[in-house]
Amino acid sequence: MSQKVIIYPGTFDPLTYGHIDIIERGARLGDQLIVAVSLNLGKQPLFSIEERTELVKAEVARINDANKTGLPVLVKSFSGLLTDFATQQGATSILRGLRAVADFEYEFQMASINKRLHGELETMFLMAAEQQHFVASRFVKEVAVFGGDVSSFVPENVAKALHRKIKTK
Ligand code: ADP
Repeated sequence: MSQKVIIYPGTFDPLTYGHIDIIERGARLGDQLIVAVSLNLGKQPLFSIEERTELVKAEVARINDANKTGLPVLVKSFSGLLTDFATQQGATSILRGLRAVADFEYEFQMASINKRLHGELETMFLMAAEQQHFVASRFVKEVAVFGGDVSSFVPENVAKALHRKIKTK
């Protein structure tokens, strides 16, 4: 039987507990979850793609250590079209997280475009966890810039990286 490979793409600038929740829940939905860190220069990320990928890898290593089901979660980076990357990886579906209604329009458009580009690839959504539904990388960066405590939004590693990055800006 062929494996169910799921791709969870995002900018992860930086990784938050909201993303981590989706990764942990998504890993149980198929045989293999690949977290795909997108170059996404359009968003002018604070962290480089290498930095974002390293931060995701460090947290995913913890998840893998604790995970008892399926293959270990993989982390890869990509540029270009998500549907091309997903096809290369043999993925059968794309996973996205949905927070408030505000996410819906963008996610709906993106899923529809990806469906037209690659009809076999389904996008599925997980609702944000109750405790994480307001957590967004953009706000975490704003809080960090003004010296606020981000420890309830991001893992310790990410908080340290944020503070280092902000100091050098
Ligand atoms: P992108 O630039 O591709 O939207 P993000 O890193 O902002 O990348 O988000 C990646 C995915 O994770 C998106 O589907 C987004 O809706 C979801 N996501 C972001 N924050 C949360 C959260 N707090 N809870 C659940 N899903 C989230």
